[in-house]
Amino acid sequence: MKVNSPLQVYKYLPQTNCGECGETTCMAFASRLIDRSMKLEDCPPLLTDEFKEKYMELESLLAPEIREVIIGTGEHAKAIGGDDVLYRHQLTFFNPTKFAYDVGDTMPEAELVERVNKIQNFRKFYVGNFLNLDMVAVRCVSGDASKFAVAVKKVSETTELPLILCSFDPAVLKAGLEAVKDKNPLIYAATGDNWGDVAELALEYKVPVVLFSPDLDKLRSLAVTFIEMGIKDLVLDPGTYPQGNQLKGTFDRFIQIRRAGIKEGQKEIAFPLMAVPMNTYLVYDEPVTASYWETVLASVFTVRYGDIMILHSLEPYALLPEVHIRDTIYTDPRTPVKVEPGVFEVGAPAKDSPVIVTTNFALTYYTVESDLSSNKIDCYIAAVDTDGIGVEAAVAGGQLTAARIKETFDKAGFDFAEKTSHGALILPGLSARLQGDVEDVTGLKVLIGPPDSGRIPGWMEKSWPPKAK
Ligand code: SF4
Repeated sequence: MKVNSPLQVYKYLPQTNCGECGETTCMAFASRLIDRSMKLEDCPPLLTDEFKEKYMELESLLAPEIREVIIGTGEHAKAIGGDDVLYRHQLTFFNPTKFAYDVGDTMPEAELVERVNKIQNFRKFYVGNFLNLDMVAVRCVSGDASKFAVAVKKVSETTELPLILCSFDPAVLKAGLEAVKDKNPLIYAATGDNWGDVAELALEYKVPVVLFSPDLDKLRSLAVTFIEMGIKDLVLDPGTYPQGNQLKGTFDRFIQIRRAGIKEGQKEIAFPLMAVPMNTYLVYDEPVTASYWETVLASVFTVRYGDIMILHSLEPYALLPEVHIRDTIYTDPRTPVKVEPGVFEVGAPAKDSPVIVTTNFALTYYTVESDLSSNKIDCYIAAVDTDGIGVEAAVAGGQLTAARIKETFDKAGFDFAEKTSHGALILPGLSARLQGDVEDVTGLKVLIGPPDSGRIPGWMEKSWPPKAK
């Protein structure tokens, strides 16, 4: 049984309302546990001997439906799985899909190091965050255990990113594990043929392990066997087939497993799922076509339950859609993406620079900021606190008002007389109806800008500086 209401959780808490967790009541803390914005460990009294039993019970009652599995160690460790719902709007999805990019043990050392550096150095700035790649999957292409161990060691010396060690040969996996035994890599994979030896490795090295079988009965039976052996950090790979009916079968299996884990409470298969979109390279000879279909598969399985993936193409046209769709799917639908409200400088504004108003919806703010900085327009941007809502909706909903605009400048200590020679501000075109109110409340001259920030440079040519009253 899993608890899902604050009242149910409250029964297990100390109920003293001591405030040590930072919440004023135990009930408020219970709500934060349910939405996973706080952890049990944030309640110090619960960690004492007196409440040890309640702590243990609550820990199991609050455990996510899909087991959370950790790969790697320390600050570089990555968590996968941990979800409670089938659809993100029912709560949110946790632990964004982890993207592992492959290297082979037959690559010349310089090429191997260059590819690993490319994986670890990829960064794309998007609405206030950097989108990154997560792991390196070292594949045994040579079939030679010692060659594999050398490649694994080189990769681990080059990057702190967690590793996936890929081979169906237990001797090869063992050689790789010896090279990185304290780094908690994921081993790929146990199958119907090698499962006994791979299970021994998972136990000996205490590492998470992928179970592979496109036959769901076999996959379930492998999982049950591993659980009975005491191996609980499992990842399931039900096979990724890139074309036709086999692709449909792949998609159906992902959905079937996740439904069984979440809706039907089948704990024996409630584990993170692995997709291998790079299998497109097995069926398409032409690299651009293979990369294109790899990205399609990565997108499909980011949306439908792939918790971790092995990919190949590092071309920008493959990486950008992959990291963007992941960011979109794993944005928490309960909270708009927002920036801190305030008044910010773009470039080096002087007294004759414009002052431009927008909202603190992150997508709007960074779009405006990027349009201004890429056009080298030195100015101030005021991000008004609209609870993270965009301009048009915030005007309609009453979050973008003359009072809030004035408050933004007041709180930032922005004095128009001191900072500007024009005493004017520019409202977004979509908030034109606020012009009179803002003039009345602030006493400033208010100009109406274009409806989207991409047109600001053209607007500036015609309308800036403001004409004297
Ligand atoms: S620290 Fe624990 S006991 Fe104290 S208020 Fe928070 S939840 Fe209640």
